[in-house]
Amino acid sequence: MQNIPEAPPILGATHLHSGKVRDLYRLEDGGLLMVASDRISAFDFVLESTIPDKGEILTRMSLWWFDQLADLVPNHVLSTDVPEVVKGRAIVCEELAMYPVECVARGYLTGSGLLDYQSTGEVCGIALPKGLQDGSRLPSPIFTPATKAALGDHDQNVSYDSVVGDIGAAAAAELRDLTLAVYARAEGLARERGIILADTKLEFGSRRGAGPGDAAGSRATVLADEVLTPDSSRYWPADEWTPGRPQKSYDKQIVRNWLLSEESGWDRSSGAAPPPLPAEVVDRTRARYVEAFELLTGERF
Ligand code: ATP
Ligand code: MG
Repeated sequence: MQNIPEAPPILGATHLHSGKVRDLYRLEDGGLLMVASDRISAFDFVLESTIPDKGEILTRMSLWWFDQLADLVPNHVLSTDVPEVVKGRAIVCEELAMYPVECVARGYLTGSGLLDYQSTGEVCGIALPKGLQDGSRLPSPIFTPATKAALGDHDQNVSYDSVVGDIGAAAAAELRDLTLAVYARAEGLARERGIILADTKLEFGSRRGAGPGDAAGSRATVLADEVLTPDSSRYWPADEWTPGRPQKSYDKQIVRNWLLSEESGWDRSSGAAPPPLPAEVVDRTRARYVEAFELLTGERF
C-alpha cells in the first residue's frame, strides 16, 4: 500500500494526514477539516481511478448516521460549512484525543474474524460455536477490537483484556458498550431496508481535559472519524445472503470482480498495482454507492 496522492492545499488549513481515502487538515480558526476524496481502494491498493461523487456520498451517509445515533453517543461533527473546494465532501469536526483502538462490532463472521476463528475457534479471545462458515450470523454481536497498523499493514485483532491494559477498564467497557449499542441500532435500521450490516469499525476520542466517564452526567467519550460508510463497514444485500461463500459486497464487488477478471489483465499475486478501471466499471460502481445511500437514508442523491 502506497501511492496516496498528495493532498491539495486548502487556504486557511494545514494538512495533517492522508489515509487511503480521506485527507485531514487543521483549520486556523480551530477544529479539524475531514475531507473525503473520490479515491477507492481494493485489495489494499488505492486505485488510480476515482469514483465520481464517492466522497460526497460517503460524507452524507456518515452525517446521516451521526444523526441516527445522536441519542446514543455524542459525535465530533461541528459543521458542514467548509471551504468551497471541498463543499459537500468535508466536515469540520472537533479535535479529540483519539483512543488507540479500532472499535469493531461484528454480527456476522467474515474477513479477519473468519481467519482467526478458523485457526483458533475464537475471535479476539471470544470463543464461538463450532461449524460457523464465511458469512454466518453470530449468536449475538461481538466486540472485536483491533489496534491500528502502520500505513499499509492490516489492523491487528486484539483481545478485550489487551484493550483494558492499554486504556483502562472503565474506558474499555465504555467503548465496548457504545460500539455494540451503535451496531445494534445500525444493524436494525439497515435490516429494515433490506441490507445486512455484517460488521463495522468505529473510532472514539475524548474531549481534551476530560477522561472517560467523568464529569457527572456529561459523557466525555465522543464518536469520531467516519461512521457506517461502506468504507468502514460491510454491507450485504440481504436477499443474496448465503453463508458458506464470500458475500456480495454492496459497493466494491463490481471493482473486485473486474480486477480479478481476465479482461483486466491484472495478476493479484504479482504485487503490481492494479490497472485503471474502464469507464463502465466506474459508472456501475458509482451507481452502487448512490443506491446504498438512497436505500439506507431514504433520501435522493
Ligand atoms: P485508512 O485509510 O486505512 O483509514 P488512516 O486511518 O490513517 O488510514 P484516515 O482514516 O483518512 O486514514 O485518517 C483519519 C485520521 O483522523 C485517523 O487517524 C483518525 O483516528 C483521526 N480522527 C478522526 N476523527 C478525529 C477527531 N475528531 N479528532 C482527532 N483525530 C481524528
Ligand atoms: Mg481510518
